[in-house]
Amino acid sequence: MGVLAKIAAIVLAISLMTFIIFFGRLPVFRRTPIAWLYTFFVVNLPSGVLALDRALTGGRFTSSLMRFGSFMMNDKHPTVVIFFLVLLAGSEWMAIPSAWEFLSNFQRVCVVVFGSLPYIFLYLAAYTDPGTVSLTNLKHHLSLYPYDYALFHPGHRCYTCNLLKPPRSKHCPVCKRCVGRLDHHCIFINNCVGVGNHHWFLLLLLSTAFLASYGGWTGLCILRDRVLERWPTWSLFPWRAYEVSGGALADTPLATRKMTFNTWLVLLSWGMKNFIHLGSVSLLGLLISPLVWGLLAYNLWNVWTGQTTNESLKWGDYKYDMEEGMVYKRRIAAAESSQVAATSSRWPLEPDHVIVRTEDGNPPPPNDKALPGVGEWERVWTLRDVENLYDLGFWSNLKDIFIPNYQFNTKDLPASERRGRPRKRVPRT
Ligand SMILES: [Zn+2]
Ligand SMILES: [Zn+2]
Repeated sequence: MGVLAKIAAIVLAISLMTFIIFFGRLPVFRRTPIAWLYTFFVVNLPSGVLALDRALTGGRFTSSLMRFGSFMMNDKHPTVVIFFLVLLAGSEWMAIPSAWEFLSNFQRVCVVVFGSLPYIFLYLAAYTDPGTVSLTNLKHHLSLYPYDYALFHPGHRCYTCNLLKPPRSKHCPVCKRCVGRLDHHCIFINNCVGVGNHHWFLLLLLSTAFLASYGGWTGLCILRDRVLERWPTWSLFPWRAYEVSGGALADTPLATRKMTFNTWLVLLSWGMKNFIHLGSVSLLGLLISPLVWGLLAYNLWNVWTGQTTNESLKWGDYKYDMEEGMVYKRRIAAAESSQVAATSSRWPLEPDHVIVRTEDGNPPPPNDKALPGVGEWERVWTLRDVENLYDLGFWSNLKDIFIPNYQFNTKDLPASERRGRPRKRVPRT
């Protein structure tokens, strides 16, 4: 009981902290306890420690800690990849040998296949070029997507790389390069997730989530069978068990000799203690599964809405500016739009509006030649009033990720039907 509770509490706390630190800043969690906890752990707690350290050591402790933190978060190094590999290999090394004799041949094949896939996808995600933009491939990156005149406007240069910024690209401050369709820099693969390796990253998440659930469940079933060998009336799920030992209960009918939940747990702990390696790894697998499935679901939600993590943050900022009445849109001139579309021959949609953010909440002058578009400016209050040019629907978005340079065929449609497609799914930020 004690061992089980301690392992569960530690694993749960680690999973929760990881989740809060990685996802707490996402717009979807604004005004929720996740965001408050994120602010507490990332802002309030460090500033409290900082104040205490200034008073005690004159700030020496925190400055060395900050150097370490900045190295961990802003430098390119494989520390987290090694941690992930050690955790994965260590768990397998601890659990598989003690589980092997209880596995059927089919299960053994599954364990070998599912146990190896995360390594393969980790290697591919980490070592495939995520889509580094260079002078030689700039033209290719410019041809992948049209500028949407909302998040990405033509003519902007990256100050560091001194190259034109292709639509959907972003400069990665960790890798110090511009990456095509950059989703985010991922410390678990020590690489950016971009147009070149996004599919490997999704497969890594899927295979890890599957391994954690399958391994955890299989391990738990083996434990259950070991407990059942000793106490045949015990049942893992539903919580059902009967006291069968004689003594005081000998004259009581079986159905009324139900075990309490506590006794049920004690028997489970007996299994855990006798198979401590298998037990703790199974529990770890089952407890981290929701976290990995959650990560995968978040990434699939982005595929569903046709946006990258970078774009979802940008849309999140837009949303708040829209609510403040700072955002305007107007129709884009057909000539400007087709000029942009001509650079992307494979993408079936063209922008039909330009969206701008103003400083003072007043619309820009209608004749401002510096801004693209024609006609009057119209205030935009909500994300529902704008289109996401990069959302073609879930399956097409998935094809775009998995098949490099996929040629979408709706280009054959007359231009009037292609333009201004109403947005079906608004990124909920
Ligand atoms: Zn750059
Ligand atoms: Zn990067």
